[in-house]
Amino acid sequence: MKAFQAPPVLKTTRKFPDNMTNAHALLLKAKLGEKGNVKGEGYAVPAFNVTTFQGINAAFTAFELLGASGLLAFSNSALKHFGFGDPIFGLEVAADYVAKLAKRSHVKIATHLDHGDYTTESGRKVVQGAVEMLTSVMADNSTDHNVKQPTPLTDNIGYTREVVNMAHPVGVSVEGELGVLAGVEDEDTKSEFSTYTNPEEFEQYIVQTGVLMVAPTIGTMHGPNKGKPGHKVKLNIELAHQLLKIADRIQPETVFVAHGASTLYPEVVAYAADQMDQIGGSLSTRFSQIWKDFVGTDWDQIQGLIGAGFAKINTDTENRQTYLAGLLGALKENAAKIDIRWYDNKTTDALTQSYITKLIMAGDFGVWHEPKINVGKYIFNLNKSLKDVIEASK
Ligand SMILES: [Zn+2]
Repeated sequence: MKAFQAPPVLKTTRKFPDNMTNAHALLLKAKLGEKGNVKGEGYAVPAFNVTTFQGINAAFTAFELLGASGLLAFSNSALKHFGFGDPIFGLEVAADYVAKLAKRSHVKIATHLDHGDYTTESGRKVVQGAVEMLTSVMADNSTDHNVKQPTPLTDNIGYTREVVNMAHPVGVSVEGELGVLAGVEDEDTKSEFSTYTNPEEFEQYIVQTGVLMVAPTIGTMHGPNKGKPGHKVKLNIELAHQLLKIADRIQPETVFVAHGASTLYPEVVAYAADQMDQIGGSLSTRFSQIWKDFVGTDWDQIQGLIGAGFAKINTDTENRQTYLAGLLGALKENAAKIDIRWYDNKTTDALTQSYITKLIMAGDFGVWHEPKINVGKYIFNLNKSLKDVIEASK
């Protein structure tokens, strides 16, 4: 047997162009509660899963408005969407676009591959491309996508360690996952089964992989249906704290990541149902109930994790829903407007409101400059334009 070699440490002196940085740098600041030169309470950086240029634009508007740390996550299927079916070309397109916007930005931005899969040939190419073109990657090898089964621990460690060996020396941070989350995380990497993270395996995993960002499974689920309507998903907070203690003992710079943390907005569901009612016809009968049945993760439980080491909160579903609600509102207002930009602006503005709301909820504001609004006065309202919502909160 080969002697155990300690994993390479993350190179923190790598200078990314313009305002780009690796995700771990932003998350560590959040864990330590650093905003400007002030050290306060811990907060979290929401990772926004962007799938279109509109999504990226909306996120940048929200980051700039709030002086927030910005974390943009790309799934494999999002990269395919950017790349006309080719995720590697998608990486080039998305990374170039983000770099252009980051250049004129006044906050720090990290780009992250979500659920990078190192267990398959095609997945490895995307992870390698991401190490080259993004600033952070997730090495999610908890599921072996060749056989669609949980990966044995030693294999998960082995695959993840390969990614760390490649990424850390060039300053790209790596997020690992231990345990399997149920639900649809992405069309390309969905899972039907779910397992909790085992504390002993967890210790072995972080020691041997060297990842500084880790997603334990404590009961959250991916997708818009986290349990039955009317029933909240209960997170295993006790397990989370047990794992945090282990991480702090081994490497205090470890930050935790909550996946499947989408907490839906009741006001968006109400707004969407109302738009469908007003449009009438079969639209409302066919879709209203589906909206009302969506179940998100309970925000109170997520909030309990922030400040306890969870510094990255993955959110996606509520942002997708807000976009769709904005589209329904636009169609209700005028379904004969022959102007793509008009619908584009309406949906982007709705998405921006969703991002602003989530950043404020997570405490990610005033990190790089003072917010341009009074965050305490901000009210999420899709009945108003983004401009009016911002004006009302000054
Ligand atoms: Zn996830």
